[in-house]
Order: sequence, then structure tokens, then C-alpha cells
Amino acid sequence: MLVGYIGAGLAAKAFAPRIGLGSLMAAAFLLDILLWLFVILHLERAAVPDDFATRHALIYTFPWSHGLAEAVFWSLAAGFVWTWSGGEGKYFASAPAVIAATAFSHWVLDFIVHPPEMPLWGPGSPVLGLGLGQSLALYLEGGLAALGLGLFLWRRRPGPVPRAVVVGMVLFASMLSAANAFAATPTASVPTTAGASLLAMAAVVIVSALADRAVP
Ligand SMILES: [Zn+2]
Repeated sequence: MLVGYIGAGLAAKAFAPRIGLGSLMAAAFLLDILLWLFVILHLERAAVPDDFATRHALIYTFPWSHGLAEAVFWSLAAGFVWTWSGGEGKYFASAPAVIAATAFSHWVLDFIVHPPEMPLWGPGSPVLGLGLGQSLALYLEGGLAALGLGLFLWRRRPGPVPRAVVVGMVLFASMLSAANAFAATPTASVPTTAGASLLAMAAVVIVSALADRAVP
């Protein structure tokens, strides 16, 4: 769902232009950053299901990163950490709430897309998830990315270089999301997926921060 989260980050930037785009992207990715770190640390699990060819997604045991209560905690923590770290010197009254809401938007998107596997409050608790399915999820992601990108370009009016960078990033992430949504077999082992996902999110955060700096 990479490009959907990017769309959420861009939309947040359009409404809170004083918060760095890199910070907003990191907030939008936060739960997945935690997920893949926890998978690497064996605190959470991602596995290839037998029906991957039709499901096009891994199955997850992720109570610590994607539980509802935990997601609320991480979202509030993101707002506090951003503020505590000086908020890039761009603090304003509702800024921590924007960071927290951007982080929590990830849970809402995942709730729509994932099958019932998202715990309410940790291991063994009831699970939630509307299970939209990968192809419908792709429409949701694409729509959100287009909306976020449109709002960003309209409100921020970036110059040619940052505009090309951000549009290129959204297009590239869209292709990755589309390829994943229709993959018949996993593109990589779970540990490789964890590392590649973390690298991809780090790249988006860095590119976003650099592009943002080029916008007056
Ligand atoms: Zn997620």
C-alpha cells in the first residue's frame, strides 16, 4: 500500500504546509516501519499464505505495530516526539495533532484493505479488517495518491524540479503497488521484503524532505 500512504502524506502537507514533507511521510509510514523492524526482531510475523496467487498479499501477525490501541499509542507518540524534537522549528498549535492524525491514517487505510487480522489491543484480542482485496485496494490507493498529489501541487505550487521529483516518486510507487497487487508469487523472501520495504520508505522520506526544501 506504499503509494496510498504517500498520498496521505501529500494531502497532510497541503493542509499543514509548515510541517516538513519528510516528517509527514515518516508519520504515514510509521506503523509499517515498526512492523518490518519487529519482523526482523522476531516480535511480529509475516508469512506467505497457501492462497497467495489469489490473495496477492502476505498474512500478518502484527499486534504491536498494527493493533488499534497500539496504533493510537504510536500515533500520539509520533506527535509528541516530533514536538519534543523541536518540530523542525515549525511548531504551531495543531501541528502535533496533524502528525498524529497522519500516522493514524495508516491504520484506517490498512483496516479497509486488510482481511480481519488487525488486533484491537494486542496479542489474542479480537481482530478487525474489511478485506477490500488487492485489486479494489489499488483503486483506493490510486485515488488517494491522485488526490494527495493534486492537493499538494495546488496548494504548494512547487517549481519544476521538486514537482518532477514528487510526481516521479508517486508514479514509481504506483507501479510498485500495482506490481505487488497482481503478483502471483511473492517477489522476495519475508526478510528481504522487510529490508526492501524499510529501504523504500527511507528513500521516500529522504526524497520528500529534499524536494520539500526546494519549495519556497
Ligand atoms: Zn500497515
